[in-house]
Amino acid sequence: MPLSKNQIDTLLAFVAETTEDDMSCDGCFEHVAQFVEAELADTSLCESMQKIKRHLQNCPCCRDEYNALLDAMSALKV
Ligand SMILES: [Zn+2]
Repeated sequence: MPLSKNQIDTLLAFVAETTEDDMSCDGCFEHVAQFVEAELADTSLCESMQKIKRHLQNCPCCRDEYNALLDAMSALKV
């Protein structure tokens, strides 16, 4: 049975998303604090920080972790 256009679109979107996000959740958890620090310090993001950022956009569970850290760390700074 040939794929419908919708199925093809879904597959393409899936492939596009996975190729763009080559960070694992473990890798993200390891570096997310560093990423928050870079963001708070307003420094430019290096390649590995860009990967974290892309992962956070795709992964709601790591985004929760990021938001919690961001809250905690910005509270410390004030
Ligand atoms: Zn994740």
